[in-house]
Amino acid sequence: MAEHEDEYERRKEHRHEHRREYRHEHVRVAVVGSGFGGLGAAVRLRREGVTDFVVLERAGSVGGAWRDNTYPGCACDVPSHLYSFSFAPHPDWPRTFSGQEHIRAYLEHVADVFRLRPHIRFDSEVKRMAWDAEKLRWDIETSSGNLSADVVVSATGPLADPKIPQIPGLKSFPGKVFHSARWDHDYDLRGKRVAMVGTGASAIQIVPAVQPLAERLTLFQRTPPWVLPRVDRAISGAERALHRALPFTTQARRGLLWGIRELQVQAFTKHPDELGLVEQVAKLNMARYIKDPALRAELTPDYRIGCKRILLSSDYYPALARPNVDVVASGLSEIRGSTLVAADGAEAEVDAIVFGTGFHVTDTPIADRVVGADGRTLAESWKDGMEALRGTSAAGFPNWLTVIGPNSGLANSSMILVIESQLNYLADFVRQLNVLGGRVALDARPRAVRAWNHRVQERMKRTVWNTGGCTSWYMDANGRNTTIWPGTTTEFRRATRRVDLGEYDVLRVPAVKKRAEAGV
Ligand SMILES: Cc1cc2nc3c(=O)[nH]c(=O)nc-3n(C[C@H](O)[C@H](O)[C@H](O)COP(=O)(O)OP(=O)(O)OC[C@H]3O[C@@H](n4cnc5c(N)ncnc54)[C@H](O)[C@@H]3O)c2cc1C
Repeated sequence: MAEHEDEYERRKEHRHEHRREYRHEHVRVAVVGSGFGGLGAAVRLRREGVTDFVVLERAGSVGGAWRDNTYPGCACDVPSHLYSFSFAPHPDWPRTFSGQEHIRAYLEHVADVFRLRPHIRFDSEVKRMAWDAEKLRWDIETSSGNLSADVVVSATGPLADPKIPQIPGLKSFPGKVFHSARWDHDYDLRGKRVAMVGTGASAIQIVPAVQPLAERLTLFQRTPPWVLPRVDRAISGAERALHRALPFTTQARRGLLWGIRELQVQAFTKHPDELGLVEQVAKLNMARYIKDPALRAELTPDYRIGCKRILLSSDYYPALARPNVDVVASGLSEIRGSTLVAADGAEAEVDAIVFGTGFHVTDTPIADRVVGADGRTLAESWKDGMEALRGTSAAGFPNWLTVIGPNSGLANSSMILVIESQLNYLADFVRQLNVLGGRVALDARPRAVRAWNHRVQERMKRTVWNTGGCTSWYMDANGRNTTIWPGTTTEFRRATRRVDLGEYDVLRVPAVKKRAEAGV
């Protein structure tokens, strides 16, 4: 009896093996990432009638940046009604600016309401994807198995992979170390001497949250940010009831928030001099809380406001004025045991270091994992700087579209506006493939990509990001701004409304084969 069972099990296992070996999974579209970009793509594909798609997510739940960033005080800088999908308005946002947990809950809700869960594969990190020029498809290796897809939508996020600088001595630091985007909630900061490294958007939210807990908080500031007051308040029950009863009021509120930001764009892109007035407001904001002139001098930026992201906070300066906070106006340069040493020689002994040092933005890790038509990775192809047609398609990477790709970031408005524009482009891309029919792929023409980027970089010359006199993460290692869109969101929407086939080479299987045979 036992022998029979053994034999039965052996055969079953053999059948599984056989299936694993020979069953090859192919989908129409593989979406990578399940943040706003990936989930938005999934909704859009379903609306276009595409159901044969998967969403590959390396983590165990949806939410992207809003799942990973759980640091105390984490919140959005864009008002809630604008930082959400236009196709999924939420009348019940509790505050004008949402906290991380509400945005994460919103994205979980989107995944449920739009029935996206059957498409999502968690714990599936994309390790490599390579273009098969014979079969005109992407071969994708993930941590949970392999598959192929006609089209890839890469929504791996512009701020998804934390960056910790290589500080000499960091490895032998005896205390606790973590990045803002990988907060260790098991570590209790109460009564500890804590160093905060960095003064970006995350750091200025962390400082007021940690200051009351820490025995001492030392802030290592390489460059001071410009900070404007954050006008945040609870959205009243009456407002929410109104939005529920009359849905157009939610849309109107969103429209107003969008319009205000849209009108500000020109000052950033064409007339940075006009931003002087905003600097005065920021200085008054600082003077209200920072009474010590020496500290005020250290906290006053020497570059034009807007050159780096303008930060919003009403509790950052009050926290810095507390007696248990030290501002070191210099970057962290070395660690000796538990002593942190700044570039100007200042020292602080600490128990824990929190790095608010940003993300791999212009050196996005996914670029090393994507292998294009000529066998080069996207990272190799982008070694002189990222560039993609309309922020979406890179030459030599057929049927590969990225969400928030090169020069499609926004400095003063909601990234969801850009994401939705790129989803319009994706929808038309899939439509065009269907119309062309058969096994077909679209590859952005190098000349079209160059022309697009030339236009973008020409417009960039006048912007505050290039002329404001700062060093920011918008710039790549070559000093080129390859991250920000130098125009209004309306212009971006117009530019991505439709795929212009004149900007693409249409690849078909026989043509590819013929070219290969002719050695072209
Ligand atoms: C702390 C913080 C605050 C922010 N605040 C604002 C704000 O106020 N306003 C604003 O407009 N924008 C803000 N942003 C920018 C934010 O990145 C975008 O608004 C938006 O959330 C990006 O969505 P996304 O889906 O493109 O990327 P993400 O939300 O980063 O999602 C990317 C997903 O891809 C997954 N992934 C990555 N690599 C792989 C792989 N190899 N295989 C499988 N899965 C992978 C990740 O796990 C993640 O789930 C903020 C970002 C951060 C980090």
